[in-house]
Amino acid sequence: MSNKLLYIFTPLFFIGLIMLFLYCEKPDYNRLNFVQIYLTDSIYEKWNDHLAEIPKDEWQIVEYSELINKLNYFERRFVERVFEVNPADLGFMGPFYSLEKPENLIKIEPVSLNTPTGKHELPAKYCPEHSYYDFEVMVDSMFSDLGRRLYINSGYRSPGRQAYGFIDDLVMERNDYSLYKTAKWVAMPGYSEHNSGINNAIDLINEDGISGEEHGQRAEDFEVLPEYKWLIENASKFNFYLTYPRGNNLGVQFEPWHWHWEKKN
Ligand SMILES: [Zn+2]
Repeated sequence: MSNKLLYIFTPLFFIGLIMLFLYCEKPDYNRLNFVQIYLTDSIYEKWNDHLAEIPKDEWQIVEYSELINKLNYFERRFVERVFEVNPADLGFMGPFYSLEKPENLIKIEPVSLNTPTGKHELPAKYCPEHSYYDFEVMVDSMFSDLGRRLYINSGYRSPGRQAYGFIDDLVMERNDYSLYKTAKWVAMPGYSEHNSGINNAIDLINEDGISGEEHGQRAEDFEVLPEYKWLIENASKFNFYLTYPRGNNLGVQFEPWHWHWEKKN
């Protein structure tokens, strides 16, 4: 090899070695290193592209394997390593639910809300049959008491949808590529009540588009609603319970919009 080629390839070889070292490094839970950030961005972009290609109605039930197949070897291995982290090590103390798709899912057609700030579209959702029927009876009862209704902002989510949600939050400014911070907002695949086929959770939104988790909203915006007060007083009659009250010991922030189905008697 000529000296000239040696001058070019030697630095490239060492840069490659450093990149490989950073790629293999165990992810720092406080912040990923720059190679891992690059991969995360690339994964996020490819998954967004994939979701844009499939019908919107299928977003909530997208298969994990379908998303994984869109990635190259390095992206794939990296995202698998992220989801191999024990959520308890990130401060998340909730149980594991399921990676199996339930057989009793009902499709809920898209809804268009007329909010004070304009139209708010809710794409199609899915829900296990039993929890959806109880939800319907519950909101009918709320309507006769308050003249107001709640809608499903998020129902059943497949492990694929959960994985996308985690990466989507990881790249957000508030979390800044911190697995610790992200785990406070989004559960890892299989660890969300939205992944359960039995004690499934439903995230609620009111007819004015207030959920407490929309862009620019805070949990308190949902907490002050008469609908929320009604839920606190009545939801248990319909088998729905608040999972993450203030100061919960599950390591999750206060989520007044998130109610799970549970048969207690
Ligand atoms: Zn939720």
